[in-house]
Amino acid sequence: MIRIGCHLSPSKGLLAMGRDALSIHANTFQFFLRNPRGSKAKPMDGQDAAALMALLQEKDMLPVVAHAPYTLNPCAAEARVQEFASLVMGDDLTRMGSFPGNLYNFHPGSHVGQGVEKGIEKTAALLNALLTADIPVTVLIETMSGQGSEIGGTFEQVRDILQRVDLSDKMGVCLDTCHVFAAGYDLVHDLEGILEDFDRLIGLSRLKALHVNDSLFPLGSHKDRHAPIGKGCIGFDALLALVNHPALTKLPMVLETPQDDLSGYAREIRLLRGEAVDNL
Ligand code: FE
Ligand code: FE
Ligand code: ZN
Repeated sequence: MIRIGCHLSPSKGLLAMGRDALSIHANTFQFFLRNPRGSKAKPMDGQDAAALMALLQEKDMLPVVAHAPYTLNPCAAEARVQEFASLVMGDDLTRMGSFPGNLYNFHPGSHVGQGVEKGIEKTAALLNALLTADIPVTVLIETMSGQGSEIGGTFEQVRDILQRVDLSDKMGVCLDTCHVFAAGYDLVHDLEGILEDFDRLIGLSRLKALHVNDSLFPLGSHKDRHAPIGKGCIGFDALLALVNHPALTKLPMVLETPQDDLSGYAREIRLLRGEAVDNL
């Protein structure tokens, strides 16, 4: 059975979030360590975190993915914004000490006119400043759609960041299906070729997680707009083939599709596991 879940909010507490995941038969999930739009974060409740970890262990739901805030731009031009990224990511990595063996995913950022090279340099420099040998998690660069001045919209750019990070065994990649499709990688007709490219440039052993989303906009649109599974330009068949591909099927998978409530995710989990669900 594939390891799949969705993005969840820890607003009712960490253990409650784990129970939410269990209630929709997820066997992994993703969450923010803090309010995704702001910097404010309550101090971490260590007991709650330990209770969540115990539940995840007991129910075979590991690893899970923590997602850095969207507001974090690791390669910002302004010193103030760069400083914010450093503070928040540093604090997040400290928090990840409560979730050993799990994954921390972030967006490599937008160069905002400084140029791709400068962006890559700055993001790698931030990682080099923050990563230490005792961090008990793997830090994942998310593949991006190349919207605006986003970096990480090509496998070459992801590789170039990875190559500059000293503690390279702490690093991995999370492939977002909506993002790579919008970036121009044709998952519908050439999954095999894309995985070959990924393997040649980055190495498939670096791939540690998937974000499974359909895309509202077509191939190469460079627009980051997720659609429910089967309701976008990638389509159900291509996503089903992708989650069952031998090189990918053992990875933790996270749905980040727009849904009204948890039942929408429960349905998509069943769909992608090939369990009987009424019509798409
Ligand atoms: Fe993301
Ligand atoms: Fe994503
Ligand atoms: Zn996205």
